Amino acid sequence: QEPIPTDYDIAQSTDMEPIWELVEPWGLGLDDLQYFGEYTAKVKQHAIERLRDQAENKEQNLVLVTGMTPTPKGEGKTVTTVGLGQTLNHVGEEAMIAIREPSLGPVFGVKGGAAGGGRSQVLPMEDINLHFTGDLHALTSAHNLIAAMLDAKISQGDDLDIDINNVAWPRAIDMNDRALRETVVGLGGKTGGTPREDNFILTAASELMAVLCLATDIGDLKERVSRIIVAYDEDGEPVTVDDIEATGPATMLLRDAIKPNVVQTIEGTPALVHGGPFANIAHGTNSLVADKTAFGMGDYLVTEAGFGSDLGAEKFMDVVCRMGDMTPNAVVLVASVRALKYHGLDQWPVDYDEIDEAGVEAVEAGFSNLDKHARNLQKFGVPVVVSINRFPDDTDEEIQAVLDHCRDDLGVRAAESNVFSDGSEGGVDLAENVIEATEESNEEDFQMLYDDEDSIKDKIHTVATEIYGADDVKYTGGALDDIEQMNELDFDDYPVVMSKTFHSLSDDASQKGAPEGWELEISEVYPSAGAGFLVALTADALTMPGLPARPAAADMDIDEDGNISGLF
Ligand code: ADP
Ligand code: MG
Repeated sequence: QEPIPTDYDIAQSTDMEPIWELVEPWGLGLDDLQYFGEYTAKVKQHAIERLRDQAENKEQNLVLVTGMTPTPKGEGKTVTTVGLGQTLNHVGEEAMIAIREPSLGPVFGVKGGAAGGGRSQVLPMEDINLHFTGDLHALTSAHNLIAAMLDAKISQGDDLDIDINNVAWPRAIDMNDRALRETVVGLGGKTGGTPREDNFILTAASELMAVLCLATDIGDLKERVSRIIVAYDEDGEPVTVDDIEATGPATMLLRDAIKPNVVQTIEGTPALVHGGPFANIAHGTNSLVADKTAFGMGDYLVTEAGFGSDLGAEKFMDVVCRMGDMTPNAVVLVASVRALKYHGLDQWPVDYDEIDEAGVEAVEAGFSNLDKHARNLQKFGVPVVVSINRFPDDTDEEIQAVLDHCRDDLGVRAAESNVFSDGSEGGVDLAENVIEATEESNEEDFQMLYDDEDSIKDKIHTVATEIYGADDVKYTGGALDDIEQMNELDFDDYPVVMSKTFHSLSDDASQKGAPEGWELEISEVYPSAGAGFLVALTADALTMPGLPARPAAADMDIDEDGNISGLF
């Protein structure tokens, strides 16, 4: 078999269509777009509204792509999302794709870019992975503007009586930089501000990212920004973005970022790439605006939820579908031989060489993880299709063992996917299974795991026991006081976004498979009042990851002609 060229080489050898020509048959005209070169555009507000109205009167099939607990390299959800979108068009359906936009942290760290790979990529991949249309920069600027205005209030005539030990707005940067995780600001004498402990989070973890991904338009965005709680005063009362007069300027900085970006895949399927919250520390799916726009353009929307189904998919169902009034018609659960072996070998940290060498017994030993994800997804009442994303070194025996297990033991649909190596030619079996699943689905069967009225503790308990497989929940630190305060502030009817490690179904990264007999530890609960949800922090979640000693960045380069290498 010929080796598959690198993602960048495949991308470079693909002829793209000008974006306005590509989207014209999908209902977007020249005036509907704001251009960033020939191949990338943002969809203007009037077009978003028109498409949203059109979507009301047409068929909508929402397909969510999620995965089993991944290895740190990723198992191919984005590849599968892009490949499935391409294949649905190839077999005669009209399908749109919506995915998140990449963050520089993973691009330069272990995982690499987030534009898909092989023959299932969104293009231009180097633009999308590096800066793109500047949405992440705009979010970083808006976030840090709020932080700066808050510190200016604190150090110069604070009429708000802000408690400097109770500041709830960290600083943000779009880079994995562990040295910034905990820091002290305000040093430098009298004119250096008020000294206090502070920390940095990734831009992807900023509440502004969540707000951008849930807002319907600029008015709603502004309203949500105004509500964000940035600190508490000496009486414990919330201080909001509006209180520090930052609503207007912060929203102004986001005026373009709120518009979804449209690009194309290798095979010319339009893709909306917009918003990028991580699923371990935030809600984990692209913007609702992108989803709603896509519904007006095609009959199918294929969208990705980050990390394993315990994180992204649970939040998509319980938070995003709740807020956006959406019903998924099918869920694709991506599995890889590599991830199955990783769970089968029960290793931490990961030794990829050992994983590569392990045989089919290790694959079978890892089924417990896949099974738990499949059973979890069935709880939402949406048909599940397992997609086995085939990597170059996987053997027929290994793939067959997974297919047999899914069909015979689990009783779910399963297909081998070769969309990475072959594009849509490699996704036909998967697409046919997905079409059947959507036809079989009944929107009335869809159910979220908890109701708005359930108590905060009940919501957390439900996700912990039903999805993560915990026996119980234990509250440490100030978590119980936090919940008390959330009740007093009338935030108890909000859904809960759990912040948990993505390396395990449990809250301990070293636990593989489907851990049993453990308690989920909640250390803190805080409101994302702008987004409209509560965040529950568990023991192991990091809102500012670090780089490994030799990150992917060390292999990246650009030559004097501007050719890039090492970006994947
Ligand atoms: P996820 O979205 O699940 O995190 P991605 O789709 O981004 O995963 O894939 C993770 C990495 O693995 C990417 O660099 C991608 O190009 C690569 N990859 C995915 N599927 C395959 C495959 N079948 N063969 C080889 N490489 C793959
Ligand atoms: Mg992805």
